[in-house]
Amino acid sequence: MVVHDPSKSGKRAALDLASFIDASPSPYHACAEAARRLDAVGFTRLDELASWDRTSGGAYVVRGGSLIAWYAPKDAGKASGFRVLGAHTDSPNLRVKPRPDAGRAGCAQLGVEVYGGVLLNSWLDRDLGLSGRAWLRGEHAPEARLFHVDRPILRVPQLAIHLHSEIRESGLQLNKQTHMQPVWATGTPNAGDFVAFLAEQVGVDSGEILSWEAMVHDAQPSRLIGREEEFLAAPRLDNLCSAHAATSTLVELSEKGADLERAVVVTLFDHEEVGSTSRAGADSPVLGDLLERIVLSRDGSREDYHRAIADSVCVSSDMAHATHPNYPEKHDPDHSVFMNAGPVIKLNANQRYASEGETEALFQVACERAEVPCQKWTMRNDLACGSTIGPITAARLGMRVVDVGNPQLSMHSAREMCGSLDPGYLMSALNAFCD
Ligand code: ZN
Repeated sequence: MVVHDPSKSGKRAALDLASFIDASPSPYHACAEAARRLDAVGFTRLDELASWDRTSGGAYVVRGGSLIAWYAPKDAGKASGFRVLGAHTDSPNLRVKPRPDAGRAGCAQLGVEVYGGVLLNSWLDRDLGLSGRAWLRGEHAPEARLFHVDRPILRVPQLAIHLHSEIRESGLQLNKQTHMQPVWATGTPNAGDFVAFLAEQVGVDSGEILSWEAMVHDAQPSRLIGREEEFLAAPRLDNLCSAHAATSTLVELSEKGADLERAVVVTLFDHEEVGSTSRAGADSPVLGDLLERIVLSRDGSREDYHRAIADSVCVSSDMAHATHPNYPEKHDPDHSVFMNAGPVIKLNANQRYASEGETEALFQVACERAEVPCQKWTMRNDLACGSTIGPITAARLGMRVVDVGNPQLSMHSAREMCGSLDPGYLMSALNAFCD
């Protein structure tokens, strides 16, 4: 029996999650924040170009907006498998176009592209910041520099109801091209305004900036809300809640060191919200290649790698839909899922989720050992079901996978909400699963 650790119980985990989210407005910042936490407990950042001679301990690699970290116990056998905790770093948002300087009617605006399945209305009339990375002329090759503007510099203003009679009959209809451009100044826009602003943020001359990956975020800090602070209101809970739980679990397990039975691997993937098909996404070879390199670095063979995969299980953690109190008819009435009632195992016979009877049972046992509640969920038969990195990981590697996640409301809103007890429950469950 795993002794329940009071540091993870209650709302402490939710408050730590809030600070993780506020430090992570973009996938690049999420990787940097996870790396900062791993560095603090002695993990080593490895270069994918270098030869890895290490055989045990904690290490990680960063590829674009993805981070993969692992802790390998000293005496792991060559063919010993992995416990993989998977999540994603990206969230739907608005991203700055390559020629963004636009505007009319006395306002300077930024041209933005819609990334992923954005709930467009949730971005209206909000105080918005800007973050991402700028690519500078390096001495030998382009060099990335992160930036994070947390003061509210942008706003997408909603049309007044007096000018919008259609809204009464047909509800709010938003055009992604014409209605979602944020304003950020008065006056006439000039080509080069955005580059000049960006250059100032990263402390270089405009001519040094070659390109950027810049995105908009809700500048309001995450906070506990509700009569007795039952909820956490925050942007990007999908899926920084899981990324935070996986990273925290790895930090905690690494302190046990040699007592671990198998290596624990955390995969924080970018590009899940747009299908995972990218150089750093879950549908890339990055995880398989890395696991193979870990086996090779402990003098294992290609056969040992295949044996290790057969011995491995992945918990793919992504947020789940809590039953919405205003729309209960949107949910299967026999599979209601509640906030502050523990992580959810997601099941779908059509394999939109990768959970199988065996992995479902394994996760349930882990929750029992951690003494946290757990829930089971399926989609209504008459609604289309979402998916996760779970089926991609299962199909790419042939690894056993269970799809889980904490329940939330307002998924893909600029500001989402979840139960304030659930982040601690998920961490305890992941910990027990890997131990
Ligand atoms: Zn997600």
